[in-house]
Parts: sequence; C-alpha cells; structure tokens
Amino acid sequence: MSRVVMGLSRSSSREFEMPELPEVETVRRTLEPQLKGYKVVGVSVHEPRLRWRVDGARLRRCIIGQSVLGVTRRAKYLQIFFSGDVCLLVHLGMTGRLSVLRSEVTLEKHDHVIFHLEGGFELRFHDPRRFGSVDVCSISDLPSHPRLAHLGPEPLGPDFGGDYLYTVSRRVRQPVKAFVMDAKRVVGVGNIYACEALFMAGVNPKTRASRLGKVRCERVADAIRTVLTGAIERGGTTIRDFESTVGTPGGYGTNLLVYGRDGGGCPRCEGVIKRIVQVGRSTFYCPGCQRA
Ligand code: ZN
Repeated sequence: MSRVVMGLSRSSSREFEMPELPEVETVRRTLEPQLKGYKVVGVSVHEPRLRWRVDGARLRRCIIGQSVLGVTRRAKYLQIFFSGDVCLLVHLGMTGRLSVLRSEVTLEKHDHVIFHLEGGFELRFHDPRRFGSVDVCSISDLPSHPRLAHLGPEPLGPDFGGDYLYTVSRRVRQPVKAFVMDAKRVVGVGNIYACEALFMAGVNPKTRASRLGKVRCERVADAIRTVLTGAIERGGTTIRDFESTVGTPGGYGTNLLVYGRDGGGCPRCEGVIKRIVQVGRSTFYCPGCQRA
C-alpha cells in the first residue's frame, strides 16, 4: 500500500533533540529513489502556518508540471530538485515527515502540504509540531538563498577538516562544543554528535576553541566525520524514536558512548561520565580522559 514513510515521530522521555544531519540524510537516501521521475500535477496546502508560512499559490505556479530530478541535502534542509530550475526546500523541524503514498490512503491529521504526483501517488508533508516547512526557489538561486547563504561547510564535504577548524577558531573564545555546533562554522553537528565527537577526540567540551592546536583540531574534525558517517550508516539515532521505512528504528542510539550516560563508567578510562549544561543543552563527557 504505502511506498515509503520516512521521518521523525514521537518525542522520547529523554531531553528532546532536534533531528540532526544523519536522520535527514537517511530520509534523503530513502526518498530519492521513491520520488525520482515523478511529475507534480497538483499541490494542496491544508495548513500554511508552519515554521515559515507556505505560499500555496507560488508552490503551484512553480512546481506543477515539473518532474523530480533528484534529492540532495544541505545542512538539515532537503532539496528536491525539479526540472525547470525548480527546487523544493524542505525542513523537517522537530517532527516533520515526508511520505510517498497512494492518493487513496486516508489523509492524517497534520498532513499539511500534499504534492499530487502523476500515477496516483502523493508526497505528503506531515508535521504535528509545525517547526518544519516547505519553500520553493530556483536551483540557481540556492547558494544565495537566505536560509542557506550563511551556512558553514558540510562536515562530510571537501571544505571541512582540521585545517579549516584551526583557521576559523583562532580568535574564538567560545567553548569548543558551542563552536562546533555553530552552523556558521560547520553545519549538522547537533548536540548528540558534538558530545560523541569530543569524547572520541579526547577534548574537553569546555575548552576554548582558540586553545586547540592543529593536532587537536584535526582530531576533532576526524571525530565529527567518523561519528556522523557511522550514524548515517546506521540510519540515525534512536533517541527520538526515529523510524525508517518499515518502522525499524535507526541503530545509532546503541552506539552512543557518552550521550545520556551520566553516572556511568567511561568506556575508555576509569572515569565516570558527567553531565553539565552548556548554552541550555546537556553536555555529556568524561572529565578523566577529555582534557582541557
Ligand atoms: Zn574517560
């Protein structure tokens, strides 16, 4: 009946985390083969008041008649590329979900925007908390798009690495954890992965970014790449009950070394994992082996 249902559902009893880059990348990888080649024949907007207001008339004017060429990702934005130089920009917010379903499947509450596809399918944007949204622009305008223009490099792309981190951190008095979570420096390093990467790199999250030398910048950059790559391979974390196609949860949650493990033993030394709060977010680290 359904072709694919991807996205994020139900918050957990733990501190609520936004979907991070690996989850969005997992959605992208599943969505692309499901959507490629389909032509949009109509657009219905049931609720325009999302993260940003949805302009139904503009969506219809730009997208109807265009076919999906592919799906890419920039930071946590999905970019659905269409013929005619059209891009649909989708942000999943906290609880957004994209589903490709047959049109006879009953609409659910919170199915806010429906793209009617030829052949009797629909792409549905569902989002109970409405922190996500959809927008349309031309592909050629993407680099200067106001939602994207200020973003730092992709952590898994060629512009990010130890040299880059070293260069951009020289005058930064911010703690390294806040620094790597700043999307202007590098995108997609959310709270869970920042904690995990700094543990892996053996760097104390409170250390000022400017105090990191080249070697530690290299270790932090490598750890960020390793943690994110591992999470993508496992389909995202289980922290928020992230569900893939058939409802099997992503597997990264079971691989978390320090996140959510305060009071537990450090997997690397005799220390005990500690929880502190930085910029309003929980940080988990081992004071024993994550040196300042
Ligand atoms: Zn330790």
